[in-house]
This record gives sequence, C-alpha cells and structure tokens, in this order.
Amino acid sequence: MEDLVQSPSLARRALWLVDLRWIAIVALASATLVSDRVLGVHLAKGHLYLLCGILLVYNAVLYGLLRWLTKGRDEPSSKAIGRMITLQVSGDLVILTLILHFSGGIENPFSFFFVFHMIIASILRSRRQSYIQAALACLLFGSMVWLEYSGLVQHYALEGFAGHTLYHDGVFVLGTLLVFSATLFLVVFMTTSIVAQLRSQQEDLKQANLQLKEKDKIQNEYVLRVSHDLKGHLAAIQSCIDAVHDGLLGNLNDGQKDMIARAHRRTAQGLAFVTDLLKLTHTKLAGQPGISCFSLKAMVGKALAAAKSRAEAKGIQLSVEVSPSVETVCGEQVLIEETILNLLFNSVQYTRQGGKIRLEIQDRGTEVLFHIRDNGIGIPEDEKDKIFGEFYRATNARAVERDGTGLGLSFAKQVVERHGGHIWAQNNPEGGCTFSFAIPKNLQERSRC
Ligand code: ADP
Repeated sequence: MEDLVQSPSLARRALWLVDLRWIAIVALASATLVSDRVLGVHLAKGHLYLLCGILLVYNAVLYGLLRWLTKGRDEPSSKAIGRMITLQVSGDLVILTLILHFSGGIENPFSFFFVFHMIIASILRSRRQSYIQAALACLLFGSMVWLEYSGLVQHYALEGFAGHTLYHDGVFVLGTLLVFSATLFLVVFMTTSIVAQLRSQQEDLKQANLQLKEKDKIQNEYVLRVSHDLKGHLAAIQSCIDAVHDGLLGNLNDGQKDMIARAHRRTAQGLAFVTDLLKLTHTKLAGQPGISCFSLKAMVGKALAAAKSRAEAKGIQLSVEVSPSVETVCGEQVLIEETILNLLFNSVQYTRQGGKIRLEIQDRGTEVLFHIRDNGIGIPEDEKDKIFGEFYRATNARAVERDGTGLGLSFAKQVVERHGGHIWAQNNPEGGCTFSFAIPKNLQERSRC
C-alpha cells in the first residue's frame, strides 16, 4: 500500500492540489459571470476577476516550483514538498477569504469551503500543522467579518441573494463565527484521527510484509539446502545406475535391464526436478542483478546450438531472426540465455514431429522483445495465466508428456522480472503458441548508477 506521507506520493498530491486550483479558477470566473448575467446577483466583478488573475499567476508559480523540486528525483525531499503544501493551503485560505470579502462576506454560504482546506491539510500535513491551519482560517475569516462589522473595511453585498444587513447583526455574526470555528476544529480533529489510524494500520501492514519476506527467505534457504543435498545423492545414484545400465558390471538379463532402465529414467527425472528447483530458488534468493552488456548474436548462437540436437531428433525445423539494430543486450547473460533455452526446450517438448519453431528478437525502442513461436499443442485458454505458477502443468501438456517439473516457466518469469521486464504467452491463430518476453534497454544506465 502506498504510504500516505511518503515523498513521491506527497509530491503527486501537491501537484493534484495545483490541478484542483486550475478547476477552482475556472469555476470562480464562471460563477462570477453566471451570477451577474444569469442569476442577477451583483458582485464586485472587477475584484473577483482580478483575484482569478492573481490565482492564475500564483498557481503557475507553484506548478513551476513543484516541477523543479521533483524533476529528475525519484524521491524529492519530503520536507520541501511538505512546506510547499503548507504554503499552498495557507495561500488558499487567504485567497478564499478575499473572494468571500468581495462577494458578501459572512452572508456568502461559500464560507463552508474552508472545510475542504481543513480536510486537505489534515490528510497531507501533521496534526499540529492542521490545527495551525484551522486557527489561521478562523483568524482570517474572523478578521474579515470583524473589519466589515466595525465598518473599517467596506462590505460588498451580495445584491439579489441574501439580506444586506446580516453582516452588521451582532448576534448573527457571533453565532456564525462560533459555529464556523467549531466546525473547522472538529473537522481537523476527526480527519487527523482517521488519518492517524490509517497510518498506524499502514505501518502494521509494512511490518507484516517485512516479516513475510523474511519467512519466505528462510523457506527458500531451506529449500536450497535440501535440494542441493538431494542433487548430490541423486547424481551419485545415477552414476551407479549408469554403470550397471551400460553393462560395466556384467551382462544383465531382460528383467534386470528393464528394472535398471526404469530406475535410470526415474532418477533422471528426479535430478531434472531438483536442478530446476535449485535454479529457481537461487534466482529468488539472489540480490541485485549483476548487469553486464554482451553480444546478442553470440548468446543466441549458443542457445540455438544447445537446442538444435533436441529439435533435430524430432525433425523440427528451428529458425531465427534477429533485428540488426540490437547488437548488445544488458543483463545477466547466463540467466537470459537459460531463459531462452528453457523456452526453446519447451517448444521442442510440446511440438509434434516435423513441426516448426522460430526465435525472433526485435528492437522495440525502449525494450528488446524476444518471441519463441511454435506450431505445437498450444495452451488451453483458461490455463494461460496459470502456467507461470510454480509446479503448474497444463492439462494438454500432461496428456502428451508425462515428464515435466512445472518449474521452467516460473524460473523464466523470475529472471525476466529481475530485469524489470515482463513475460507472457499467446496462442497462435494458426496453431501452437508464442512465448514472449521484454527486457528494458536502460539496464545499462542503471548498472552504472
Ligand atoms: P514443464 O515444461 O516442465 O511442464 P514449464 O514450467 O516449463 O514446466 O511449463 C509449464 C507448463 O506450460 C507446461 O507444463 C505446459 O503446460 C505449458 N507450456 C510451456 N511451454 C509450452 C509450449 N511451448 N507449448 C505448449 N505449452 C507449453
């Protein structure tokens, strides 16, 4: 959940206030025009249009300042942005008071708009700051009312709307001021209390999230150790079986050969499973990616050479097309190569004899796009999103191929997301499917930071 008071969101909210103010300026100008021309309520038009002009300049300056404060910074100083918000709210209170003064003073019901400013201050600023803003609002509104009441400044009546003498009625003035002040302080009290509760819940969630991550890490470390140990045992068992299987310990009868062949196959499956699990867990536990830039052509050459023999064994035609504008790719070479290889192996596995597989690499401006297209069995539409989950194997895949770990695509997803990219699968209209992943190009710049 986004922190209510963290600086990037605070900056966004400060800009949102600026956006709201553009709307308020248009609303003020239109309301002045409509009141005068349509409703017959006569206002101090000149002064109000002048205030629109001042607001325009004030808002443009605030916008420029905020853009300057946030430009090129991931985390603008929350103190500076916080001060800007305080300045904005205080400035708005002054301008709202002036607008009210030129449009009926205490007789103008728009005085309730002070409440919105109190809510904004209570959400974006501290409890103390919010009460200061409430006190400022009471002071400004109270001073205007008192100055008009005492005749020290002119009262601009809302001709055609309310009684013109209310501003001079002591009981009405005092009563309104009391209700006004109580409302503002109550609003601040209620809003800051709700915001405080939300912040504390947010903090709890953050802590729970940290604990979950820590637990996840411990679990992954455990899986890593167990699978590492298992891999060692399975590799040892396999070499013993191999020796018997290959007849190094004497000839076997047909029954023994069959049993050893089965044991050989099951051990190979177990080893493949543990190896995939190890790779996936390693990637999950790895820290920041160690990025380097490498030749795309060389990497693709290696991956194709590794997939070629499997493809040929099934009479599958393997082709490749690489955009000439992508010479290098930045990232973790071994992992990206393994990802391409995983996807190529999958295509070979799930494509029938004599099928076709095509690897395409395209330049998409800010990212490099990889497509692995085949004309194999495709993916059931309702399982397309599930296949990237750990241990998941689609129903049609299980029917054609018994062996499989369901971990290859989870590994590919981990690798691509580690590089700030995304991966997806689509069925082709002509049959088979295409696995695609995109890796951002700016990784090179990030690696220099
Ligand atoms: P595995 O291939 O070992 O089952 P993966 O994680 O690599 O595990 O793939 C998960 C599932 O995604 C597969 O079981 C299969 O259902 C589906 N899949 C992956 N690649 C293809 C493909 N090229 N064509 C059809 N289905 C695929």
